[in-house]
Amino acid sequence: MTRVVILGAGFAGQTAALYLRKELGKDDTVTVVAPFSYFTYYPSLVWVGVGRMSEDRPIFDLEPVYKRHGIQFKKGWAREVYPDQQEVMMEKENGETERVPYDYLVNATGPYLNFEGTPGLGPHGGYTQSICTIGHAKQCRDAYLEQIQRMEKGEQVNIVIGTGHGMSTCQGAALEYITNLHRDLLRRKVRDKAKIMWLSNEPRLGDLGVGGISARSRGYIMDSETFAKSLYAEQDIYYQTQSAVTGVEQGKIHWENYEGEQGETEFDFAMLIPQFKGRPIRYVDAEGNDITGKMTNPLGFT
Ligand SMILES: Cc1cc2nc3c(=O)[nH]c(=O)nc-3n(C[C@H](O)[C@H](O)[C@H](O)COP(=O)(O)OP(=O)(O)OC[C@H]3O[C@@H](n4cnc5c(N)ncnc54)[C@H](O)[C@@H]3O)c2cc1C
Repeated sequence: MTRVVILGAGFAGQTAALYLRKELGKDDTVTVVAPFSYFTYYPSLVWVGVGRMSEDRPIFDLEPVYKRHGIQFKKGWAREVYPDQQEVMMEKENGETERVPYDYLVNATGPYLNFEGTPGLGPHGGYTQSICTIGHAKQCRDAYLEQIQRMEKGEQVNIVIGTGHGMSTCQGAALEYITNLHRDLLRRKVRDKAKIMWLSNEPRLGDLGVGGISARSRGYIMDSETFAKSLYAEQDIYYQTQSAVTGVEQGKIHWENYEGEQGETEFDFAMLIPQFKGRPIRYVDAEGNDITGKMTNPLGFT
């Protein structure tokens, strides 16, 4: 009998759980440990954040899926892993802890959203919005709709979308969000009241954190730099790349570019993706020593 424990129920954890359950034998067990019993389809949050999709649509309950496939589910946060003993310590909602033994462990806990890496960034006490969780996307939508009311009264609004740290990734989500926002403003007939700007750490427009992409269509190859440039020209979106956001205060974003020049960009509404780090899970050896530094890279990814 083999016991597989999977930490996390996102795309990675879910894929691992379903495939392993299919491949493993009847006596083997697959157990998922995750703090929420629902799955979030993150790509749809680019619609929730402009109020074009209700917040309940991108999520579905995982427990019936697990029941159908014979996957065990334990609700809680993995806090510590003991590789020598082959156990995970998880914390449940009520604060109780439980040790879960494993033969094989899959860490699929996704990114920790490092808002603290940029002073003033993010929806938890900062000045900018995020669409990185369902809760953030709802908060972002509400802040956006407040700006819509101002525009409907005839006020001009500065909107900034992009990355909130020199090492943020996931630029693709921000790109989708900025184009959705542009189209939503057109639909609401207030596009002329908004100045929209793309502010990012990319070395060049269209890099998207992956060195750019290209697509073949009807015999032509279009690279993402050309695509983004023509898109922003068509949609009247200003852009500034090669810039790391270093801090945010009310109405003002501070940045430093590749040349070391520092500057500020004023905003009324900003959605900036934070840096991603590994989830804070501690690895402990048989003697009780913290060996997290050996098990993860400096950003905390296993
Ligand atoms: C707005 C948005 C749009 C996107 N659009 C696209 C797109 O169009 N195409 C694309 O390819 N990618 C897209 N992405 C990126 C994609 O969503 C991520 O790459 C993907 O979600 C990563 O999957 P994951 O399973 O590694 O992590 P996650 O999806 O983050 O899942 C992590 C899981 O681990 C759980 N967890 C966290 N901590 C613990 C812990 N301590 N113990 C146990 N469980 C824990 C979480 O609750 C969650 O269930 C988008 C991202 C965003 C934010």
